[in-house]
Amino acid sequence: MQNADIIIIGGGVMGSSTAYSLRKIGYDGKIIVFEKDPIYEFSSTSRSAGGIRQLYTTDINIQLSRYSLQVYKNFSSTMAIDGEFAEINFRQRGYLFLGSADMMGSFDKQKRLQNTYNVPSELLSTKELLNIIPELNLDGLTGGLYCHEDGYLDPYSVMQGYKKNAQKLGVEYISQEVDTIITEQNKVTGVRLVNGAEYRSRIVINCAGAWGVYLSDKIGIKIPVHPLKRQIFQFDTSVPLQKELPLTVDPTGVYFRHEGDKILTGFSEETKPGIDFTVKKSLFYEEMWPILANRISNFEQVKLTSSWAGLYSFNTADHNAIIGGHPSMEGYYMALGFSGHGMQQAPGVGQGLAELIYYGKYETIDLTPLRFARFSDNDLVLEDAIV
Ligand SMILES: Cc1cc2nc3c(=O)[nH]c(=O)nc-3n(C[C@H](O)[C@H](O)[C@H](O)COP(=O)(O)OP(=O)(O)OC[C@H]3O[C@@H](n4cnc5c(N)ncnc54)[C@H](O)[C@@H]3O)c2cc1C
Repeated sequence: MQNADIIIIGGGVMGSSTAYSLRKIGYDGKIIVFEKDPIYEFSSTSRSAGGIRQLYTTDINIQLSRYSLQVYKNFSSTMAIDGEFAEINFRQRGYLFLGSADMMGSFDKQKRLQNTYNVPSELLSTKELLNIIPELNLDGLTGGLYCHEDGYLDPYSVMQGYKKNAQKLGVEYISQEVDTIITEQNKVTGVRLVNGAEYRSRIVINCAGAWGVYLSDKIGIKIPVHPLKRQIFQFDTSVPLQKELPLTVDPTGVYFRHEGDKILTGFSEETKPGIDFTVKKSLFYEEMWPILANRISNFEQVKLTSSWAGLYSFNTADHNAIIGGHPSMEGYYMALGFSGHGMQQAPGVGQGLAELIYYGKYETIDLTPLRFARFSDNDLVLEDAIV
């Protein structure tokens, strides 16, 4: 039997940001991160689109993404190790929701809320849309909601930046799968691995992404989350665009951005919950491509170069993260249910969880609205801007 002070299950961006943040604020106990997939082949972080936006409709999501954006702006130098920059390729090329006439009222309301947090979001006219994407077909569009500070980054490099810095500060990563969390009389006492080994710890943080719900189920704690497949496609266009694209979301929900000189695109299609990584190219050819080709004529002739599927840890109750300690299982913490917006929240979530555990309260951003108990309190955080 081995001991730790804090065990984190899952070394993706959430687990690694939390481990690093604990050390950064001064926690010097023994932290172990268990990661079952050390090359991160199936982690959501590696399969993410990496979109970073402050364009949310709820106070807490705006605050979290605004904080995280400031961290990402300086990430390469603040997370440099021995003079080697932690390059995350953060392209602040903007984030743009294209809007039809019936969407503009809601965009205006969102913009006003975002501006109260100093987010420089703005409503764009169709003429202004053409300044950003000269090739855009304006059919069905009345304008857009845009934030020039936002954009996209390389999620894998963010995770590696956190992981390397956490390791440098003494956090131990072990490449093993946790079978279950061990509890005694409503207290967490450790974890048991699939190989049978047991580790004692009075604090266990569930950062197991789309798999986290199953670990929670095993100790009888139900959370309204399930894994949901999301697909991404990358293609070449025969005619290049004049300008680099912001991360652009069509009113249909199809989103696209540049990835180098290629285009990366995704869409939240109807799909059954579960662990599923199969790619159906028919989604691209039959549903997405007609929308893309209609919106930008350069996309009429495309060559698909790669495609993959990843998992959202999808919160079915209010599409938002569940963060913090469990009210009736002492020592059990979680950061789950990000529903497709975890990359833009990871720095703020790691910082918040670290503060909650080390100081016993949130200091930087009050993450209480995202507490587990909001479901029983009937105090959901309903976010309208979900991609
Ligand atoms: C296709 C797609 C597009 C996305 N686009 C965006 C976007 O544009 N912007 C944005 O902000 N977010 C986006 N997201 C969401 C974002 O990527 C996730 O919210 C974020 O990466 C979640 O990080 P995580 O650390 O919680 O999960 P993960 O990265 O999945 O990490 C969890 C880790 O836990 C490990 N694990 C699981 N069970 C165990 C166990 N029992 N024992 C040990 N280890 C275990 C897993 O191997 C995994 O590495 C997207 C996600 C997908 C799939």
